[in-house]
Amino acid sequence: MCGIAGIYSHKSVAPELYECIVHLQHRGQDAAGMMTYDERMHKHKGTGLANEVFTEKNLQLLLGNIGISHNRYPTYGGFSHGEVQPVWTSVPYGIAIAHNGQITNYNELVEEVTQTEKRYLNTTSDTEVLLHILAKELDKNGIPKTSEEFFNHLCDAVSTIFTKVKGAYSVTGLIVGKGLIVFRDPRGIRPLVKGERENNGKTEYIFTSENTMFYSLGYKPKGNVLPGELIYVDNDGKLFSKRLVKEDFNPCIFEYVYFARPDAVLNDVGVYRSRLRMGQNLAESWKKKYSDVVPDIVIPAPSTANTSALAFAHEIGVRYSEGLYKNPFVGRTFIMPGQEERKRSVKHKLVPQETEIRDKKVLIVDDSIVRGNTSREIVRMVRDFGAKEVYFVSACPPVQHPCYYGVDMPTSDELIAGKQQEEDIKKYLGVDVLMYQEIDDLVEAVTRRGDHHIENLCMACLNGDYVV
Ligand code: SF4
Repeated sequence: MCGIAGIYSHKSVAPELYECIVHLQHRGQDAAGMMTYDERMHKHKGTGLANEVFTEKNLQLLLGNIGISHNRYPTYGGFSHGEVQPVWTSVPYGIAIAHNGQITNYNELVEEVTQTEKRYLNTTSDTEVLLHILAKELDKNGIPKTSEEFFNHLCDAVSTIFTKVKGAYSVTGLIVGKGLIVFRDPRGIRPLVKGERENNGKTEYIFTSENTMFYSLGYKPKGNVLPGELIYVDNDGKLFSKRLVKEDFNPCIFEYVYFARPDAVLNDVGVYRSRLRMGQNLAESWKKKYSDVVPDIVIPAPSTANTSALAFAHEIGVRYSEGLYKNPFVGRTFIMPGQEERKRSVKHKLVPQETEIRDKKVLIVDDSIVRGNTSREIVRMVRDFGAKEVYFVSACPPVQHPCYYGVDMPTSDELIAGKQQEEDIKKYLGVDVLMYQEIDDLVEAVTRRGDHHIENLCMACLNGDYVV
């Protein structure tokens, strides 16, 4: 999972692209990068958080009114400076791209790029392969004279990508002398939203993974980049767009469960509202299955589960408590790259509040149980602080299958529900009651409001039904 942004503006774009990746920081904490363009490319990237990579001084060197930026969360490729996005090539034109997602036929495409096209790859990143395929396709059609002609070339190139490249990819890109490009895979698995702003009678455009920075930057939300759509903004700010293919729309359900910020609206569904509904649906199940089990308090595993826990507590009429204090300066555990780092960071991150826990029947609501280690640690901490009984409720059904579309859960062996039955998981976590959300209830929570265009959410990690 990564965060991407692309902006066409009539003023210096670097400060706003920086604000984008600060707002998207929860989507990837490994590295950050930016490229801007004003007759030539300017780039800066590095490992760490956006505010560690960028300074006032290096932002000043990123000249131009068109640019892209990226927060990295590694799912494919190694972990070196070379993997940090945006990635770029100088032929033809000079092209840079930032990518969120994961390509599933990577090996086949590497073969094509290196053996057939004789292009050299610097990294093992799937983004670099995508870049070279785009470059190769754009190199085919001669030199366009007008933006209309160039857009036609782009349509041909991106149509070929849509045919050849399998998996999930939302992309923002820069092309020297041409402008900004944006496209989203035909299934729309990873999010990509768009916004517009007027500046002295001229329109400016923003494209990002989430819309959480639109308000502060003065952009108005204008919906989503559609699945299979290509958008091109030329150097003069003229926008061209075309939906090149129309397939089933299958956005990732896990964005609503865990990844996206609660204030984001993705695919016309508000993440906060969907999480409230997850809590409501969980409460209905709890009342049906465990009407005789009444906790003294409901506490969230902070902070993604806060919203669902709040709704759950309200629906069952039990006090909501912030029984686990979260240190906001420690990163999200799920996107820590290694298992050991994940384990260590739970205790650094969460401190139980004894007065809220001791001698109480504590119900913990978490967004999901993926590997099980974090949940187990949380239960142990709550027991250490004197809970009389511990119940554990997951807003997401059992995660049983690996994700090949950009989320770091690559093997069933790493997923606790991939190898154990619910009763065994309950024992492993050390809880008195374990309850998962039903799949239908989760889908209902995301899609209850009808004013969206989602056809079938991707739920491959829950039901094994891979959409690509
Ligand atoms: Fe999202 Fe799961 Fe589909 Fe991956 S497999 S894209 S995490 S719903």
